[in-house]
Amino acid sequence: MAAIQATTLRTPGPARYLTDIFHAAARELKQDRPHLQLTLRWVPGHEDVPGNEAADVAAKEAAHKRSSPRRQLPESLRTPLPLSTSRARQNYKLELNRRAGVQWRTSVRGVRMAEVDGAMPSKRYGALISALPRRHANLLIQFRTNHVPLQAYFARTEKVPSATCPTCRGAPETVPHYLLACPTYSLHRAVHFASLGFSGRTLAALLNSKAGLRPLFNYVNATGRLRSAVGALVGPRSGYPDSDSDSEDT
Ligand SMILES: [Zn+2]
Repeated sequence: MAAIQATTLRTPGPARYLTDIFHAAARELKQDRPHLQLTLRWVPGHEDVPGNEAADVAAKEAAHKRSSPRRQLPESLRTPLPLSTSRARQNYKLELNRRAGVQWRTSVRGVRMAEVDGAMPSKRYGALISALPRRHANLLIQFRTNHVPLQAYFARTEKVPSATCPTCRGAPETVPHYLLACPTYSLHRAVHFASLGFSGRTLAALLNSKAGLRPLFNYVNATGRLRSAVGALVGPRSGYPDSDSDSEDT
C-alpha cells in the first residue's frame, strides 16, 4: 500500500527515484495514448498472483546481485542506480560503530571493562541506567570505570601514598576488593548480596545486571564506605528498576 501511496507523494524519501522513474514512464505513456486509463492495484503478498510471484522471485535474484542482462532492463534502469542517502548514512554509521568498537576493545580501559561488561560498547548499558536516579547512575559509572573514591583510586591519582584498604589493611582497596573481598564487609555482603547467590557475586552481576543494582546500592549504603563522597544512596521511592519493592525506604 505504501508503494501505491508513494506514487502520489513528491517528498524526498528512500528510493524515491524509483517512483520518479515510474512517474516519468506513466507520463510518457499518457502522452502517446491520451485516453489510456491507468489503474494501480495493491496486491497482497503471497496470494498466488503469478505476476506478483514472478516479481518477487526477480527481486530476490536482484538482491543477490543476479540482475537481468542489461539489454532486458527498462532503459531508465540500465545505468547504475543512485546511491540511497539513507542507506549511505546507515552504512557510514555502522562503519563508525564498528571502528569505535575495535578501538574500545583494544584499549586499556576496554580490556579492563570486559571483566564487567564484555558487550561494551552497546545500547544495553543505556537501558540499564535509564531507570536510575542520576546520583546512582554516576556511582555505577564510577564503579565500572574504576573511578570510585576508594583508596586504590586515590593512590593512583597520588592523593594518598598507599592503596592499602583502610579498614582491613590486607590488600589494596580496589573495586573488586571493596565489593567482593574485604572482610570488613562480609556481613554486609551476606545480607545484601543474598539474592545473587554465591556464584552470582561477581563484578558483572553487580555492575552490569538489573538484578544487581538494588543489592549494589543497598550494600554501598550499608557499608557507609562512600557516604562522605556520595551521600546516602537509598532514597524514598528512588526509582530502582524494580522500585515496586521499595517498602523499606518509607
Ligand atoms: Zn579491606
